[in-house]
Amino acid sequence: MNQPLLDIQNVTVEYAARGFRAKPFRALHEVSLDVHRGECVGLVGESGSGKTTLGRAVLGLAPVTGGKVLFRGEDIAHADRAKRRELAADLQVVFQDPYTSLNPALTIEQILAEPLTVRKTPRPEAQQRIRDLFEMVRLPANAGTRLPREFSGGQRQRVAIARALALKPALIVCDEPVSALDLSTQARVLELFKDIQEQTGVAYLFVSHDLEVVRHISHRVAVMYHGEIVEFGDGDQVTARPRHPYTQKLFFAAPIADPDAQAQRREERHRVLATQSS
Ligand code: ADP
Ligand code: MG
Repeated sequence: MNQPLLDIQNVTVEYAARGFRAKPFRALHEVSLDVHRGECVGLVGESGSGKTTLGRAVLGLAPVTGGKVLFRGEDIAHADRAKRRELAADLQVVFQDPYTSLNPALTIEQILAEPLTVRKTPRPEAQQRIRDLFEMVRLPANAGTRLPREFSGGQRQRVAIARALALKPALIVCDEPVSALDLSTQARVLELFKDIQEQTGVAYLFVSHDLEVVRHISHRVAVMYHGEIVEFGDGDQVTARPRHPYTQKLFFAAPIADPDAQAQRREERHRVLATQSS
């Protein structure tokens, strides 16, 4: 198989001691994971398991004390500023809360123009790109002159996705990008992520605490538990026949809207718990 786009090898992250914590805190312990071009790898785990830390390590923002984060074969964790800047266009991020990542004082058009201007894209080309982005994320063409706060949560997330796509990245780190949205909006935004992947071939490292979400969108799924990957494999395999007891618990704890499915889920859960305790 050809070289992965992103190749995380035995990465350990330790946050420095601070305040009452006398010892450094090891948030990730020898984590390995790879993402190929055009692939979606889901990263699931409960709150505090280290998912955001791994996303930050990929973006070159976490204190990596061991291992390598190879993006297109180059180590991000130990890249200098110039190298990081060069890689930055190809490596984008979408966060849970677009409020914190979208400048509230700028119009949608200005928000989308910013990365293009920084990269000195000629004006006509930039304007065309912005029109294309509007279409890709299905924002109304007249949305450009409005401010982020004039949009619903789902629409704001579409703007954040459009901005991440502006420079045609190879990989987007998506950190809980639908977790703040209500269920129906969540489903639509997930479909959008999928369509965009099919259209552009962009790869995702898709972080969520919700296994249902991850299952819906991912080709492969990695399960994180206390800073370690306890299971990593084909999405259907991991979510339908989880091998690790932690994955089983995580999966059967996820709330689902459909009462029939919920009942079925409960039965399955009983079965799994019964086999575990026997
Ligand atoms: P998740 O995204 O899965 O909820 P995080 O990666 O945010 O998990 O956090 C993993 C662990 O690292 C948590 O115990 C958290 O308290 C700790 N942590 C996160 N960021 C920092 C930081 N900047 N300094 C110290 N500890 C941190
Ligand atoms: Mg997180």
